[in-house]
Amino acid sequence: MKGKNWREYEPAKKQKNRRRRRKGGFLKKLILAILLFVLGYVGYQIYFHHSKPYIVGLDAGHGGIDIGAEGVINEVELTERTAAKLTELLKADGRFRVVQSRDEGEAKSVTDRNHLFKRARPDLVISLHANASEDSQAFGFECYPSPPGKENHDKSLKFAQYIAKEMEGIGARLRGTDGVRFGYYVSDEEGNTSKLLLDSSDTQVYDYDTFGMLKNMKCPAVLVEQCFVTNQQDVEEFGLEEGCAKSAQAYYRAICKYLAINEEKK
Ligand SMILES: [Zn+2]
Repeated sequence: MKGKNWREYEPAKKQKNRRRRRKGGFLKKLILAILLFVLGYVGYQIYFHHSKPYIVGLDAGHGGIDIGAEGVINEVELTERTAAKLTELLKADGRFRVVQSRDEGEAKSVTDRNHLFKRARPDLVISLHANASEDSQAFGFECYPSPPGKENHDKSLKFAQYIAKEMEGIGARLRGTDGVRFGYYVSDEEGNTSKLLLDSSDTQVYDYDTFGMLKNMKCPAVLVEQCFVTNQQDVEEFGLEEGCAKSAQAYYRAICKYLAINEEKK
């Protein structure tokens, strides 16, 4: 036995089995290492990059000969100003692709805008508007998600709640209980259509149509009424250059919160 390795006395079959076991152990380790590498890489990609940009459908209400509500300013001035600021913010962020429903100054029907957004398959839609009233004292912010029973209601409601909260954060006075309302068009027997605006506590499902920009949208969609163009103070706070910029920032933050992503480079 002296000077000889004990393995030389091992039966050939046993030796072969041991080699096979050793080989199997190495393969297992290799597979585990590859798996860990792949998981790490995927995690890194998800955490640091969203490789596919989020698509935001951005609608500046009215346009062209349609100037919207008239007041201290025309509604369309506010919608275009805010859309430009929000586009700027989203583009600077780098994770978004903005699809605008129309060019600046362009007139387009609500139906065409709606169809454009359906084709673009956005991750969410925001339609910018402003309120008006014969009562120049009327003021405040409200927004309209896709209402109960309609497509993407739950997600739209959540998005609307984030928007209202952010607007409240920059000093907007919320209308209704929480600045979120449901809007419908109701036709009477003569075919006259009127708007029915309900508080968000009214969760009943109605058979009425909602606003054209929210109809059958394949993603969360919210229409905002940024302020009253007929109220001097509202316009000063939310309708001029600075007010539109800070409203756009509030919408940008709400978009990030809704998508559960961090705000960047603010
Ligand atoms: Zn409008």
